[in-house]
Amino acid sequence: MELQSASEAKLKVFIGGRWRESRSEEVREIPNPATGELLGRVPYSTSEEVSEAVAAAAEAFHAWRATPAIERARVLFRYKALLEDHLEELARIVTLENGKTLAEARGEVRRGIEVVEFATGAPTLLLGEFSEDVTPGIDNEMVRAPIGVVAGLCPFNFPVMIPLWMFPIALACGNTFILKPSERTPLAAVRLVELLEQAGLPPGVLNVVFGAQEVAEQLMEAPAVKAVSFVGSQPVAKYVYEKASREGKRVQAMSGAKNHLIVMPDADLDRTVDAILASAFGNAGERCLAASVVLAVGEVADPLVERLSKEAANLVVGDGSKADVQMGPVIRPEHKQRILQYIEKGQAEGAHLVVDGRSHKRITGPSTGFYLGPSIFDHVDPGMVIAREEIFGPVLSVIRVADLHEALQILNRSQYGNAASIFTRSGSAAREFRYLAGAGMLGVNIGVAAPMAWLPFSGWKASFYGDLHATGKDAVRFYTETKVVISRW
Ligand code: NAD
Repeated sequence: MELQSASEAKLKVFIGGRWRESRSEEVREIPNPATGELLGRVPYSTSEEVSEAVAAAAEAFHAWRATPAIERARVLFRYKALLEDHLEELARIVTLENGKTLAEARGEVRRGIEVVEFATGAPTLLLGEFSEDVTPGIDNEMVRAPIGVVAGLCPFNFPVMIPLWMFPIALACGNTFILKPSERTPLAAVRLVELLEQAGLPPGVLNVVFGAQEVAEQLMEAPAVKAVSFVGSQPVAKYVYEKASREGKRVQAMSGAKNHLIVMPDADLDRTVDAILASAFGNAGERCLAASVVLAVGEVADPLVERLSKEAANLVVGDGSKADVQMGPVIRPEHKQRILQYIEKGQAEGAHLVVDGRSHKRITGPSTGFYLGPSIFDHVDPGMVIAREEIFGPVLSVIRVADLHEALQILNRSQYGNAASIFTRSGSAAREFRYLAGAGMLGVNIGVAAPMAWLPFSGWKASFYGDLHATGKDAVRFYTETKVVISRW
Protein backbone atom coordinates (compact mmCIF):
# COMPACT_ATOMS: atom_id res chain seq x y z
CA MET A 1 0.00 0.00 0.00
CA GLU A 2 1.31 3.45 -0.92
CA LEU A 3 1.87 5.33 2.31
CA GLN A 4 0.46 8.79 1.70
CA SER A 5 1.69 9.77 5.14
CA ALA A 6 5.31 9.30 4.03
CA SER A 7 5.14 11.69 1.09
CA GLU A 8 5.34 15.45 1.08
CA ALA A 9 1.98 15.58 -0.66
CA LYS A 10 -1.14 17.18 0.69
CA LEU A 11 -2.95 14.68 2.92
CA LYS A 12 -6.19 13.23 1.66
CA VAL A 13 -9.40 13.20 3.65
CA PHE A 14 -11.15 9.86 4.24
CA ILE A 15 -14.88 10.02 3.69
CA GLY A 16 -17.31 7.18 3.05
CA GLY A 17 -14.47 4.67 2.65
CA ARG A 18 -12.53 6.70 0.04
CA TRP A 19 -9.32 8.74 0.33
CA ARG A 20 -9.95 11.93 -1.60
CA GLU A 21 -8.13 15.11 -2.44
CA SER A 22 -9.38 17.89 -0.23
CA ARG A 23 -10.89 20.85 -2.05
CA SER A 24 -9.51 23.14 0.64
CA GLU A 25 -7.34 26.13 -0.22
CA GLU A 26 -6.22 26.40 3.39
CA VAL A 27 -3.16 24.21 3.81
CA ARG A 28 -0.53 24.07 6.59
CA GLU A 29 2.94 22.61 6.50
CA ILE A 30 3.95 19.77 8.77
CA PRO A 31 7.61 20.15 9.77
CA ASN A 32 9.77 17.52 11.43
CA PRO A 33 10.49 19.18 14.81
CA ALA A 34 13.92 17.52 14.92
CA THR A 35 15.13 19.08 11.65
CA GLY A 36 12.56 21.63 10.49
CA GLU A 37 12.24 19.66 7.23
CA LEU A 38 8.88 19.48 5.53
CA LEU A 39 7.09 16.14 6.05
CA GLY A 40 3.79 16.92 4.36
CA ARG A 41 0.93 19.37 4.08
CA VAL A 42 -2.38 19.22 5.84
CA PRO A 43 -5.50 20.75 4.30
CA TYR A 44 -8.09 22.26 6.64
CA SER A 45 -11.24 20.51 5.50
CA THR A 46 -13.93 22.61 3.89
CA SER A 47 -17.31 22.85 5.51
CA GLU A 48 -18.71 20.77 2.65
CA GLU A 49 -16.21 17.98 3.39
CA VAL A 50 -17.07 18.01 7.09
CA SER A 51 -20.77 17.76 6.21
CA GLU A 52 -20.02 14.87 3.86
CA ALA A 53 -18.07 13.08 6.58
CA VAL A 54 -20.95 13.52 9.03
CA ALA A 55 -23.43 12.29 6.41
CA ALA A 56 -21.26 9.25 5.60
CA ALA A 57 -20.96 8.35 9.29
CA ALA A 58 -24.70 8.79 9.83
CA GLU A 59 -25.48 6.61 6.82
CA ALA A 60 -23.09 3.86 7.88
CA PHE A 61 -24.46 3.79 11.43
CA HIS A 62 -27.52 1.59 10.90
CA ALA A 63 -25.68 -1.31 9.27
CA TRP A 64 -22.72 -1.07 11.68
CA ARG A 65 -25.00 -1.00 14.69
CA ALA A 66 -26.76 -4.10 13.33
CA THR A 67 -23.43 -5.91 12.86
CA PRO A 68 -23.13 -8.36 15.78
CA ALA A 69 -20.66 -7.24 18.43
CA ILE A 70 -18.56 -10.36 17.86
CA GLU A 71 -18.15 -9.42 14.19
CA ARG A 72 -17.21 -5.85 15.07
CA ALA A 73 -14.69 -7.35 17.50
CA ARG A 74 -13.26 -9.53 14.71
CA VAL A 75 -12.41 -6.41 12.70
CA LEU A 76 -10.57 -5.17 15.79
CA PHE A 77 -8.73 -8.48 16.22
CA ARG A 78 -7.46 -8.15 12.64
CA TYR A 79 -6.63 -4.52 13.34
CA LYS A 80 -4.66 -5.45 16.45
CA ALA A 81 -2.57 -7.92 14.39
CA LEU A 82 -1.91 -5.27 11.73
CA LEU A 83 -0.91 -2.72 14.36
CA GLU A 84 1.57 -5.24 15.80
CA ASP A 85 3.00 -5.85 12.32
CA HIS A 86 3.34 -2.09 11.78
CA LEU A 87 4.39 -1.08 15.28
CA GLU A 88 7.84 0.02 14.21
CA GLU A 89 6.56 1.93 11.19
CA LEU A 90 3.94 3.75 13.31
CA ALA A 91 6.54 4.58 15.96
CA ARG A 92 8.79 6.06 13.28
CA ILE A 93 5.98 8.26 11.99
CA VAL A 94 5.28 9.47 15.55
CA THR A 95 8.95 10.35 16.03
CA LEU A 96 9.05 12.15 12.68
CA GLU A 97 6.02 14.36 13.23
CA ASN A 98 6.06 14.76 17.01
CA GLY A 99 9.77 14.66 17.82
CA LYS A 100 9.68 12.22 20.76
CA THR A 101 12.36 9.53 20.87
CA LEU A 102 11.79 6.22 19.12
CA ALA A 103 11.70 4.40 22.46
CA GLU A 104 8.96 6.77 23.64
CA ALA A 105 7.10 6.40 20.36
CA ARG A 106 7.23 2.59 20.59
CA GLY A 107 5.83 2.84 24.10
CA GLU A 108 3.05 5.08 22.85
CA VAL A 109 2.05 2.67 20.07
CA ARG A 110 2.11 -0.22 22.54
CA ARG A 111 -0.23 1.65 24.91
CA GLY A 112 -2.53 2.39 21.97
CA ILE A 113 -2.64 -1.26 20.93
CA GLU A 114 -3.70 -2.15 24.46
CA VAL A 115 -6.88 -0.13 23.95
CA VAL A 116 -7.65 -2.15 20.82
CA GLU A 117 -7.10 -5.31 22.86
CA PHE A 118 -9.56 -4.04 25.43
CA ALA A 119 -12.10 -3.13 22.74
CA THR A 120 -11.99 -6.64 21.26
CA GLY A 121 -13.89 -7.67 24.39
CA ALA A 122 -16.98 -5.90 22.98
CA PRO A 123 -19.39 -8.86 23.30
CA THR A 124 -18.66 -9.10 27.02
CA LEU A 125 -18.33 -5.36 27.59
CA LEU A 126 -21.74 -4.78 26.05
CA LEU A 127 -23.58 -7.43 28.07
CA GLY A 128 -26.83 -6.14 29.50
CA GLU A 129 -28.63 -6.95 32.75
CA PHE A 130 -31.78 -8.92 33.41
CA SER A 131 -34.15 -9.10 36.36
CA GLU A 132 -36.73 -11.88 36.27
CA ASP A 133 -40.09 -11.60 38.04
CA VAL A 134 -39.84 -8.03 39.27
CA THR A 135 -43.45 -8.80 40.09
CA PRO A 136 -44.80 -12.21 39.14
CA GLY A 137 -44.65 -12.60 35.36
CA ILE A 138 -42.93 -9.30 34.69
CA ASP A 139 -39.28 -9.08 33.66
CA ASN A 140 -37.00 -6.08 33.46
CA GLU A 141 -33.88 -5.93 31.26
CA MET A 142 -31.22 -3.42 30.35
CA VAL A 143 -29.38 -3.37 27.03
CA ARG A 144 -26.57 -1.11 25.87
CA ALA A 145 -27.18 0.63 22.56
CA PRO A 146 -24.65 2.69 20.62
CA ILE A 147 -25.33 6.43 20.55
CA GLY A 148 -24.67 7.11 16.86
CA VAL A 149 -22.03 9.33 15.28
CA VAL A 150 -19.11 10.28 17.54
CA ALA A 151 -16.55 13.00 16.81
CA GLY A 152 -12.99 12.69 18.17
CA LEU A 153 -10.80 15.80 18.54
CA CYS A 154 -7.17 14.99 19.32
CA PRO A 155 -4.03 16.79 20.60
CA PHE A 156 -0.54 16.74 19.09
CA ASN A 157 1.34 14.97 21.85
CA PHE A 158 0.21 11.34 21.35
CA PRO A 159 -0.63 11.10 17.63
CA VAL A 160 -1.25 7.32 17.81
CA MET A 161 -2.34 6.61 21.37
CA ILE A 162 -5.03 9.25 21.74
CA PRO A 163 -6.97 8.46 18.56
CA LEU A 164 -6.72 4.85 19.78
CA TRP A 165 -8.22 5.82 23.14
CA MET A 166 -11.29 6.81 21.20
CA PHE A 167 -12.31 5.07 18.00
CA PRO A 168 -11.62 1.38 18.79
CA ILE A 169 -13.98 1.50 21.80
CA ALA A 170 -16.53 3.72 20.06
CA LEU A 171 -16.60 1.38 17.05
CA ALA A 172 -16.69 -1.77 19.20
CA CYS A 173 -19.81 -0.35 20.84
CA GLY A 174 -21.47 0.01 17.42
CA ASN A 175 -21.00 3.74 16.81
CA THR A 176 -19.57 5.39 13.72
CA PHE A 177 -16.82 7.93 14.02
CA ILE A 178 -15.28 11.11 12.62
CA LEU A 179 -11.67 11.59 13.58
CA LYS A 180 -10.04 14.99 13.57
CA PRO A 181 -6.40 14.48 14.44
CA SER A 182 -4.27 17.39 15.62
CA GLU A 183 -3.43 19.68 12.73
CA ARG A 184 0.16 19.54 13.98
CA THR A 185 0.51 15.74 13.96
CA PRO A 186 -1.97 14.24 11.46
CA LEU A 187 0.37 11.75 9.71
CA ALA A 188 0.18 8.85 12.16
CA ALA A 189 -3.62 9.08 12.23
CA VAL A 190 -3.69 8.59 8.47
CA ARG A 191 -1.64 5.41 8.78
CA LEU A 192 -3.83 4.19 11.66
CA VAL A 193 -6.88 4.55 9.47
CA GLU A 194 -5.26 2.94 6.42
CA LEU A 195 -4.60 -0.11 8.60
CA LEU A 196 -8.15 -0.12 9.93
CA GLU A 197 -9.43 -0.07 6.36
CA GLN A 198 -7.17 -3.04 5.65
CA ALA A 199 -8.65 -4.85 8.66
CA GLY A 200 -12.00 -4.76 6.89
CA LEU A 201 -13.89 -1.84 8.39
CA PRO A 202 -16.91 -1.10 6.17
CA PRO A 203 -17.00 2.27 4.32
CA GLY A 204 -18.27 5.28 6.28
CA VAL A 205 -17.86 3.70 9.71
CA LEU A 206 -14.79 5.82 10.33
CA ASN A 207 -14.04 9.08 8.51
CA VAL A 208 -11.14 11.51 8.76
CA VAL A 209 -11.20 15.26 8.36
CA PHE A 210 -8.42 17.74 9.12
CA GLY A 211 -8.28 21.21 10.56
CA ALA A 212 -8.48 23.09 13.83
CA GLN A 213 -11.08 25.22 15.58
CA GLU A 214 -13.46 25.79 12.65
CA VAL A 215 -13.72 22.12 11.76
CA ALA A 216 -14.17 21.22 15.44
CA GLU A 217 -16.94 23.80 15.74
CA GLN A 218 -18.78 22.36 12.78
CA LEU A 219 -18.54 18.86 14.18
CA MET A 220 -19.85 20.06 17.56
CA GLU A 221 -22.77 21.77 15.86
CA ALA A 222 -23.75 18.97 13.46
CA PRO A 223 -27.12 17.55 14.57
CA ALA A 224 -26.11 14.00 13.55
CA VAL A 225 -23.08 14.03 15.89
CA LYS A 226 -24.27 12.67 19.22
CA ALA A 227 -21.07 12.63 21.28
CA VAL A 228 -17.70 14.39 21.35
CA SER A 229 -14.47 12.95 22.73
CA PHE A 230 -11.89 15.67 23.20
CA VAL A 231 -8.31 15.67 24.46
CA GLY A 232 -6.29 18.89 24.59
CA SER A 233 -5.42 22.01 26.54
CA GLN A 234 -7.51 23.31 29.44
CA PRO A 235 -9.04 26.44 27.87
CA VAL A 236 -10.09 24.49 24.79
CA ALA A 237 -11.34 21.53 26.84
CA LYS A 238 -13.58 23.81 28.89
CA TYR A 239 -14.81 25.55 25.76
CA VAL A 240 -15.53 22.26 23.97
CA TYR A 241 -17.31 20.89 27.03
CA GLU A 242 -19.53 23.95 27.33
CA LYS A 243 -20.21 24.35 23.64
CA ALA A 244 -20.86 20.72 22.80
CA SER A 245 -23.05 20.34 25.92
CA ARG A 246 -25.07 23.35 24.84
CA GLU A 247 -25.51 21.66 21.47
CA GLY A 248 -26.99 18.69 23.33
CA LYS A 249 -24.04 16.34 22.86
CA ARG A 250 -22.56 13.94 25.34
CA VAL A 251 -19.02 15.22 26.02
CA GLN A 252 -15.83 13.95 27.61
CA ALA A 253 -13.04 16.54 27.55
CA MET A 254 -9.64 15.45 28.84
CA SER A 255 -7.75 18.60 29.68
CA GLY A 256 -4.46 20.13 30.86
CA ALA A 257 -2.44 19.24 33.93
CA LYS A 258 0.07 20.32 36.55
CA ASN A 259 1.29 17.15 38.19
CA HIS A 260 2.91 17.13 41.63
CA LEU A 261 5.40 14.51 42.80
CA ILE A 262 6.05 14.27 46.54
CA VAL A 263 9.45 12.98 47.63
CA MET A 264 9.63 11.85 51.26
CA PRO A 265 12.94 11.81 53.17
CA ASP A 266 12.89 7.99 53.25
CA ALA A 267 12.56 7.58 49.45
CA ASP A 268 15.00 5.37 47.53
CA LEU A 269 16.88 8.25 45.92
CA ASP A 270 18.40 6.34 42.97
CA ARG A 271 15.04 5.12 41.74
CA THR A 272 13.29 8.35 42.58
CA VAL A 273 15.73 10.48 40.60
CA ASP A 274 15.41 8.21 37.55
CA ALA A 275 11.62 8.24 37.80
CA ILE A 276 11.40 12.03 38.15
CA LEU A 277 13.76 12.67 35.23
CA ALA A 278 11.78 10.32 32.98
CA SER A 279 8.52 11.89 34.07
CA ALA A 280 9.58 15.55 33.78
CA PHE A 281 11.69 15.33 30.63
CA GLY A 282 10.30 12.30 28.78
CA ASN A 283 8.44 13.42 25.64
CA ALA A 284 10.23 16.77 26.24
CA GLY A 285 7.70 17.40 29.02
CA GLU A 286 4.85 17.42 26.49
CA ARG A 287 2.76 14.89 28.33
CA CYS A 288 -0.37 15.39 30.42
CA LEU A 289 1.11 12.99 33.00
CA ALA A 290 4.49 14.76 33.13
CA ALA A 291 6.01 15.70 36.48
CA SER A 292 5.84 19.46 36.73
CA VAL A 293 6.31 20.21 40.43
CA VAL A 294 8.41 18.24 42.88
CA LEU A 295 7.45 18.68 46.52
CA ALA A 296 10.67 17.87 48.37
CA VAL A 297 9.95 17.02 52.01
CA GLY A 298 12.46 18.02 54.70
CA GLU A 299 16.10 17.04 54.38
CA VAL A 300 15.66 15.21 51.07
CA ALA A 301 15.64 18.53 49.18
CA ASP A 302 19.39 19.21 49.01
CA PRO A 303 20.55 15.76 47.82
CA LEU A 304 17.52 15.44 45.52
CA VAL A 305 18.07 18.77 43.76
CA GLU A 306 21.77 18.06 43.45
CA ARG A 307 21.19 14.66 41.85
CA LEU A 308 18.39 15.84 39.57
CA SER A 309 20.46 18.81 38.40
CA LYS A 310 23.51 16.74 37.62
CA GLU A 311 21.58 14.15 35.65
CA ALA A 312 19.36 16.65 33.82
CA ALA A 313 22.39 18.63 32.67
CA ASN A 314 23.76 15.40 31.16
CA LEU A 315 20.68 14.39 29.16
CA VAL A 316 21.39 14.00 25.46
CA VAL A 317 18.91 16.16 23.55
CA GLY A 318 18.54 15.67 19.83
CA ASP A 319 16.78 14.00 16.94
CA GLY A 320 14.59 11.30 18.53
CA SER A 321 15.23 8.92 15.65
CA LYS A 322 18.92 8.64 16.66
CA ALA A 323 19.87 5.82 19.00
CA ASP A 324 21.49 7.57 21.96
CA VAL A 325 19.16 10.57 22.17
CA GLN A 326 17.28 10.81 25.48
CA MET A 327 15.05 13.82 24.83
CA GLY A 328 13.67 15.13 21.55
CA PRO A 329 12.69 18.63 20.42
CA VAL A 330 9.47 20.44 21.31
CA ILE A 331 6.69 20.58 18.77
CA ARG A 332 7.03 24.04 17.19
CA PRO A 333 9.21 27.17 17.47
CA GLU A 334 6.19 29.10 18.84
CA HIS A 335 5.75 26.48 21.55
CA LYS A 336 9.45 26.79 22.40
CA GLN A 337 9.00 30.57 22.69
CA ARG A 338 6.12 30.05 25.11
CA ILE A 339 8.28 27.76 27.29
CA LEU A 340 11.14 30.30 27.20
CA GLN A 341 8.74 32.93 28.48
CA TYR A 342 7.89 30.71 31.44
CA ILE A 343 11.61 30.32 32.21
CA GLU A 344 12.01 34.12 32.16
CA LYS A 345 8.93 34.48 34.32
CA GLY A 346 10.29 32.01 36.88
CA GLN A 347 13.53 33.99 37.10
CA ALA A 348 11.66 37.28 37.40
CA GLU A 349 9.56 35.81 40.21
CA GLY A 350 12.73 34.92 42.11
CA ALA A 351 12.93 31.13 41.76
CA HIS A 352 16.49 29.72 41.52
CA LEU A 353 17.20 28.40 38.03
CA VAL A 354 19.64 25.60 38.88
CA VAL A 355 19.58 23.99 35.42
CA ASP A 356 19.08 26.31 32.44
CA GLY A 357 17.82 24.50 29.36
CA ARG A 358 18.54 27.54 27.21
CA SER A 359 22.27 26.88 27.44
CA HIS A 360 22.16 23.07 27.49
CA LYS A 361 25.55 21.62 26.48
CA ARG A 362 24.37 18.34 25.03
CA ILE A 363 22.12 19.29 22.14
CA THR A 364 23.13 17.01 19.27
CA GLY A 365 20.36 17.78 16.76
CA PRO A 366 20.70 20.25 13.87
CA SER A 367 20.23 23.98 14.54
CA THR A 368 17.12 23.90 12.35
CA GLY A 369 15.36 21.69 14.98
CA PHE A 370 13.16 23.06 17.79
CA TYR A 371 15.40 22.13 20.69
CA LEU A 372 15.47 23.20 24.29
CA GLY A 373 17.35 21.49 27.11
CA PRO A 374 15.79 20.54 30.45
CA SER A 375 15.41 23.28 33.08
CA ILE A 376 15.04 22.98 36.85
CA PHE A 377 13.92 25.69 39.24
CA ASP A 378 14.62 25.30 42.97
CA HIS A 379 13.08 27.29 45.85
CA VAL A 380 9.87 27.78 43.93
CA ASP A 381 7.01 29.35 45.84
CA PRO A 382 3.59 27.70 45.37
CA GLY A 383 2.10 31.06 44.36
CA MET A 384 4.48 31.58 41.42
CA VAL A 385 3.16 31.28 37.87
CA ILE A 386 5.62 28.47 37.08
CA ALA A 387 4.16 26.50 40.01
CA ARG A 388 0.56 26.98 38.93
CA GLU A 389 0.28 26.98 35.14
CA GLU A 390 0.81 24.13 32.72
CA ILE A 391 4.07 24.81 30.85
CA PHE A 392 3.99 21.66 28.71
CA GLY A 393 7.73 21.59 28.17
CA PRO A 394 10.92 20.38 29.87
CA VAL A 395 10.74 22.63 32.94
CA LEU A 396 10.58 21.23 36.48
CA SER A 397 9.90 23.25 39.63
CA VAL A 398 11.01 22.16 43.10
CA ILE A 399 9.07 23.41 46.11
CA ARG A 400 10.63 22.67 49.50
CA VAL A 401 8.13 21.69 52.20
CA ALA A 402 8.34 20.69 55.86
CA ASP A 403 6.17 17.58 55.83
CA LEU A 404 3.66 15.44 53.97
CA HIS A 405 0.79 17.52 55.29
CA GLU A 406 2.18 20.70 53.71
CA ALA A 407 2.94 18.84 50.48
CA LEU A 408 -0.65 17.59 50.24
CA GLN A 409 -2.01 21.05 50.97
CA ILE A 410 -0.06 22.53 48.05
CA LEU A 411 -0.95 19.65 45.74
CA ASN A 412 -4.63 19.99 46.60
CA ARG A 413 -4.68 23.74 45.97
CA SER A 414 -3.84 23.20 42.28
CA GLN A 415 -6.67 23.91 39.88
CA TYR A 416 -5.63 20.71 38.11
CA GLY A 417 -5.97 17.14 39.31
CA ASN A 418 -4.68 14.85 36.59
CA ALA A 419 -1.88 12.85 38.23
CA ALA A 420 0.25 12.91 41.37
CA SER A 421 2.89 10.63 42.85
CA ILE A 422 4.66 9.92 46.10
CA PHE A 423 8.11 8.43 46.56
CA THR A 424 8.53 6.79 49.93
CA ARG A 425 9.33 3.56 51.77
CA SER A 426 6.51 4.20 54.24
CA GLY A 427 3.24 2.38 53.77
CA SER A 428 1.47 4.81 56.04
CA ALA A 429 2.69 7.89 54.11
CA ALA A 430 1.64 6.17 50.88
CA ARG A 431 -1.77 5.41 52.32
CA GLU A 432 -2.29 8.96 53.53
CA PHE A 433 -1.28 10.22 50.10
CA ARG A 434 -3.63 7.80 48.36
CA TYR A 435 -6.47 8.83 50.64
CA LEU A 436 -5.99 12.60 50.55
CA ALA A 437 -4.39 13.52 47.21
CA GLY A 438 -6.89 15.38 45.05
CA ALA A 439 -5.91 13.93 41.69
CA GLY A 440 -7.43 11.11 39.70
CA MET A 441 -4.32 9.13 38.71
CA LEU A 442 -1.88 8.39 41.51
CA GLY A 443 1.56 6.83 41.50
CA VAL A 444 3.32 5.26 44.46
CA ASN A 445 7.03 5.10 43.62
CA ILE A 446 5.99 5.57 39.95
CA GLY A 447 6.69 8.77 38.02
CA VAL A 448 4.05 8.51 35.29
CA ALA A 449 0.77 7.29 36.74
CA ALA A 450 -0.73 6.05 33.46
CA PRO A 451 -3.63 3.63 33.90
CA MET A 452 -4.01 0.53 31.74
CA ALA A 453 -6.55 0.48 28.91
CA TRP A 454 -9.18 -1.37 30.93
CA LEU A 455 -9.24 1.34 33.60
CA PRO A 456 -10.39 4.94 33.16
CA PHE A 457 -8.01 7.79 32.39
CA SER A 458 -9.25 9.57 35.47
CA GLY A 459 -8.32 13.25 35.53
CA TRP A 460 -10.05 15.39 38.18
CA LYS A 461 -10.86 19.07 38.60
CA ALA A 462 -9.79 21.26 35.64
CA SER A 463 -7.97 18.28 34.11
CA PHE A 464 -11.27 16.83 32.99
CA TYR A 465 -14.69 18.10 31.98
CA GLY A 466 -17.46 15.54 31.86
CA ASP A 467 -18.57 12.47 33.78
CA LEU A 468 -17.21 9.43 31.98
CA HIS A 469 -13.49 9.29 31.21
CA ALA A 470 -11.57 7.81 28.30
CA THR A 471 -10.81 4.06 28.23
CA GLY A 472 -12.00 1.24 30.47
CA LYS A 473 -15.64 0.69 31.37
CA ASP A 474 -16.12 4.46 31.59
CA ALA A 475 -15.55 4.63 27.84
CA VAL A 476 -18.02 1.81 27.18
CA ARG A 477 -20.60 3.74 29.19
CA PHE A 478 -19.72 6.96 27.41
CA TYR A 479 -20.17 5.40 23.97
CA THR A 480 -23.47 3.66 24.79
CA GLU A 481 -26.96 4.53 25.93
CA THR A 482 -28.72 2.21 28.33
CA LYS A 483 -32.18 1.07 27.39
CA VAL A 484 -34.42 -0.54 29.98
CA VAL A 485 -37.28 -2.78 28.90
CA ILE A 486 -40.02 -4.08 31.16
CA SER A 487 -42.28 -6.79 29.77
CA ARG A 488 -45.22 -9.03 30.56
CA TRP A 489 -46.25 -11.87 28.24
P1 NAD B 1 -5.01 22.03 21.89
O1 NAD B 1 -6.04 22.37 22.89
O2 NAD B 1 -4.25 23.13 21.26
O3 NAD B 1 -5.67 21.21 20.68
C1 NAD B 1 -6.40 20.03 20.89
C2 NAD B 1 -7.40 19.84 19.77
O4 NAD B 1 -8.37 20.89 19.82
C3 NAD B 1 -6.79 19.93 18.38
O5 NAD B 1 -7.40 18.96 17.59
C4 NAD B 1 -7.15 21.33 17.91
O6 NAD B 1 -7.27 21.41 16.52
C5 NAD B 1 -8.50 21.52 18.55
N1 NAD B 1 -8.87 22.91 18.83
C6 NAD B 1 -8.06 23.97 18.99
N2 NAD B 1 -8.79 25.07 19.30
C7 NAD B 1 -10.08 24.67 19.34
C8 NAD B 1 -11.30 25.32 19.64
N3 NAD B 1 -11.34 26.61 19.99
N4 NAD B 1 -12.43 24.61 19.62
C9 NAD B 1 -12.40 23.30 19.34
N5 NAD B 1 -11.27 22.62 19.05
C10 NAD B 1 -10.13 23.30 19.05
O7 NAD B 1 -4.03 20.99 22.59
P2 NAD B 1 -2.60 20.49 22.11
O8 NAD B 1 -1.62 21.60 22.28
O9 NAD B 1 -2.70 19.81 20.79
O10 NAD B 1 -2.31 19.34 23.19
C11 NAD B 1 -1.65 19.56 24.39
C12 NAD B 1 -2.61 19.69 25.54
O11 NAD B 1 -3.39 18.51 25.65
C13 NAD B 1 -1.93 19.87 26.89
O12 NAD B 1 -2.61 20.85 27.62
C14 NAD B 1 -2.09 18.50 27.55
O13 NAD B 1 -2.10 18.51 28.96
C15 NAD B 1 -3.41 18.07 27.01
N6 NAD B 1 -3.55 16.63 27.07
C16 NAD B 1 -4.39 16.10 28.00
C17 NAD B 1 -4.53 14.74 28.12
C18 NAD B 1 -5.45 14.17 29.15
O14 NAD B 1 -5.79 13.02 29.05
N7 NAD B 1 -5.87 14.92 30.15
C19 NAD B 1 -3.81 13.89 27.28
C20 NAD B 1 -2.96 14.46 26.32
C21 NAD B 1 -2.84 15.83 26.23
